[in-house]
Amino acid sequence: MILPKNNRLPPEQVAELTAIVAEFGCRIQPIVGAVRTIYAIVGDERDELMISRLEGLPYVDRVDTIQSPHKLMDIKSDLASHRLKIGGVTLGEELLFIAGQCTIDPANPQYFIETAHAVKAAGAQALRGGVWKPRTNPYAFQGDVRSLGILMEAARQTGLPVVTEVMDENHLRLALEAGVHVLQIGARNALNYSLLRQVGQAVAGRDTAVLLKRGMHLGPVNEFISAAEYIVNFGNPNVILCPRGTQPGLDGYRNHPDESITPLLKERTWAPVVVDPSHSVGKAAYVPACALAAVAYGADGLCLEAHVSPSHGLGDDPKQAITPAVLAELITRARALHALRRAPVPTA
Ligand code: PEP
Ligand code: MN
Repeated sequence: MILPKNNRLPPEQVAELTAIVAEFGCRIQPIVGAVRTIYAIVGDERDELMISRLEGLPYVDRVDTIQSPHKLMDIKSDLASHRLKIGGVTLGEELLFIAGQCTIDPANPQYFIETAHAVKAAGAQALRGGVWKPRTNPYAFQGDVRSLGILMEAARQTGLPVVTEVMDENHLRLALEAGVHVLQIGARNALNYSLLRQVGQAVAGRDTAVLLKRGMHLGPVNEFISAAEYIVNFGNPNVILCPRGTQPGLDGYRNHPDESITPLLKERTWAPVVVDPSHSVGKAAYVPACALAAVAYGADGLCLEAHVSPSHGLGDDPKQAITPAVLAELITRARALHALRRAPVPTA
């Protein structure tokens, strides 16, 4: 829908609009009001180049697109009936708890193995563990490929599916060869379309799922959904949206907690939403409240950093990992809140 600056456009300007949209297979339909005329774009109006050429015209005030920019992810898409199952949990039916260390310490594998058993005992149905680590400081520990073996050993011992982040084609190949069940795309790579394409192409035709974190630099919700769509577009719909806080942070927190976008995501897309409160708030003491808020907002699950001995951890673990005891209590409360949220509201 093209809204002109003036009440109506002279014929030569309408002709110019018509010529531009025709290049993209569309036509213009004027909608004539008593005072103002607006110009509907009839056809597939999602081409960004077409929209920016229209927006660049001096007599155009703005262009509103009514078509979803992410058709495949749209709540009305045929994919809306797709159900993703991880660790025996069908997302959307029961809460999914993914928990484990930010970073696996290759020199001390016993911590990760112990953490894996402890998070399982606390009720988590999937295990996270960072093998390769994107870092805020490039000189900080960036992970170690030896940790992949530790991750898979923990998966074998516990029977839990595992989540780990991949940042390049080599990580992707190694993770898939090792049998990682869920590939994480981190906040720093959320809009790295080249990586998204590689992951999308690599998981097509497999059961592997992709946990897509939200970009850390606050972007429109649709940008997040479109990034997910780019993965799905290669053929595997097992994508999970993961809000994890954005920058600039809320004073006192590591990021600006964004679990509140969950209802917006749920309104626009069928994809499950698993919130990461650990990176949102960045401090273990604040994690349970943020996690429960996410459940209250309608999240389908939580991804939590947990460690049997946070002070012995690497990466984010010393500051933001919760202990298995806190995790167990949090899972109990989150389940109760989830049940409460789903209870029918009396209408009379
Ligand atoms: C992580 O999961 O440890 C991580 C680095 O996440 P994010 O990309 O959200 O910062
Ligand atoms: Mn982390």
